[in-house]
Amino acid sequence: MHNAAFGALGLDWVYVAFEVPPGAVGAALTGMRTLGLGGLSVTIPHKASALAEVDEASEAARAVGAVNTVVPVGGGRLRGENTDGAGFLASLGDEGFEPGGRTCAVLGAGGAARAVVHALASAGAAEVVVVNRTPARGEEAAALAGAAGRLGTAGDVPSVDLVVNATPLGLAGGDPAMLPVDPALLRPGQLLVDLVPNPAVTPLMRAAAEGGLRVAGGLGMLVHQGALAFELWTGRPAPLDVMRAAAAAALRR
Ligand code: NAP
Repeated sequence: MHNAAFGALGLDWVYVAFEVPPGAVGAALTGMRTLGLGGLSVTIPHKASALAEVDEASEAARAVGAVNTVVPVGGGRLRGENTDGAGFLASLGDEGFEPGGRTCAVLGAGGAARAVVHALASAGAAEVVVVNRTPARGEEAAALAGAAGRLGTAGDVPSVDLVVNATPLGLAGGDPAMLPVDPALLRPGQLLVDLVPNPAVTPLMRAAAEGGLRVAGGLGMLVHQGALAFELWTGRPAPLDVMRAAAAAALRR
């Protein structure tokens, strides 16, 4: 996705993956400073540790407790950003969904869910209900939405405007019979967003579409969070269509 974008804009940049051992995020960021890298993405399991190792961090990164993008800001200083939440909101925009004043249920309470809960509340959602297997983690995630957040149960799902699956249930290679919520609880008129990016249509999305819901997959958030990172690194508008096509092709492989 990023290499396709660099190519499309004629930028002499390259995006490569480095496997960083647990506990070595500080050393990796020192390497970034020393080598003069133009940016970094940070992924599982390093997002929380990266927040402790950067020199400054955005409000979203501090609130969510995780960094997914590192940007050099001069003088050897590194800024931690989190583009997951803004990327998610941009993907909602693609679906024509405006969260202001709406009610939302987020299934899951991990890294993706926390970014989504914080972003929905920041965008003015009236209520953000978190439904999670481990209630204590669900409560922590719901707190990121302030007064709009609360821990809920699957029984809350029928009455919300937006349902977001932020669990890995539905991911390729998993048990397709395990769904994050009983599709009988979904209602026509709701928007279902499944953050699982692969397969493009998850079993939950298929069931929801059959039930008359509007559905969207995880590709939108994936592309938009990457596009925001690209813009932070390069200062150039991201070629969204190029990035979307490259990401979709990579996920199909
Ligand atoms: P995570 O931090 O490991 O959190 C996973 C969450 O799912 C936890 O709340 C966990 O509940 C719940 N969960 C896991 N297995 C479950 C099960 N068998 N039954 C019920 N709940 C279960 O993972 P994450 O990083 O947030 O990622 C979650 C999903 O979002 C993944 O599929 C990932 O691919 C996707 N994602 C997509 C994007 C995108 O851009 N589209 C970005 C980030 C992540 P407990 O708290 O009880 O353990």
